[in-house]
Amino acid sequence: QAKLSGRNRYHVFDPDQDKTIRQHHESQAHIRAALAAGEFVLHYQPKVNMRTGAVVGAEALVRWQHPEQGLLFPGTFLPIIEETPLAITLGEYVIATALHQMKAWQAEGLTLSVSVNIGARQLQQPDFIERLKALHAASPDLPLTQLELEILETSALQDIGQVSRVLAECRALGISSAIDDFGTGYSSLTYLKRLPVSMLKIDQSFVRDMLDDPDDMAILQGVLGLARAFGRDVIAEGVESGVHGAVLLQMGCELAQGYGIARPMPAGEFAGWVRNWRPDPHWMRQDFV
Ligand code: C2E
Ligand code: MG
Ligand code: MG
Ligand code: MG
Repeated sequence: QAKLSGRNRYHVFDPDQDKTIRQHHESQAHIRAALAAGEFVLHYQPKVNMRTGAVVGAEALVRWQHPEQGLLFPGTFLPIIEETPLAITLGEYVIATALHQMKAWQAEGLTLSVSVNIGARQLQQPDFIERLKALHAASPDLPLTQLELEILETSALQDIGQVSRVLAECRALGISSAIDDFGTGYSSLTYLKRLPVSMLKIDQSFVRDMLDDPDDMAILQGVLGLARAFGRDVIAEGVESGVHGAVLLQMGCELAQGYGIARPMPAGEFAGWVRNWRPDPHWMRQDFV
């Protein structure tokens, strides 16, 4: 199924490409079977407030526990299904699993907000809200205010007006949303202006080099200023060290997520992590900038 577009209307048979397409179809079948077999699991990465030392929530990140290949990361399988209905099946499985997990944590006395990543295809379903409500109906005693949606900024939002209405409906139900990887897309400012989200997640690429690259530092300052002007919260992704955290905190960014705080972990490890976690001593220091 070669795409006929623009100047490439003539398609010469290319055995390599044919093979890739066939492999994709096979992989899709594998992914469908793996879903049915329960091989997809969620890992959870903590989000913390560096000023107060509170654990404010967790991001659910999908992994494929492959029987032969071990733990596979989303970069290896999401691109294969992104444009197919399977993306929606997997997306709904992720929401259902996250809700189920929040309920289990609740029963252990751990009340946690959990964010899930929503692909463009799923978000743009005409009945997205109805389906979300149906998934929630399976865990009705859980307040929807504990669920958050992360919208990937680079995802091709074809109808920003429609997405904006969907997010407004979510907000009315108490579900907040965030723009993920903020600053990396083509229309960051349009999204900021038009999408009713409460949070911007600063992309980890800006955070990673912030200590060495004045341009990245300037972008961080700019995003923090924009967020303040628009009344949005900000969380920094990819906080890999105590010094990164300390500098961000002094810049006014209190929320953080990253390997320097914790790597994503299986659900069963989360409550223990919360009990043992202590804020990084660097965050108390004032002498980094
Ligand atoms: P994301 O939503 O921006 O998630 C953050 C990614 O950065 C995760 O990778 C996380 O493990 C990684 N990360 C966290 N802290 C650090 C750090 O300090 N340093 C570095 N280098 N990386 C860090 P992961 O789990 O491989 O996920 C990659 C992307 O796949 C996610 O990016 C998200 O866009 C997508 N994704 C993950 N789970 C789902 C899902 O359930 N549904 C959908 N639609 N997309 C998902
Ligand atoms: Mg995310
Ligand atoms: Mg991100
Ligand atoms: Mg990302």
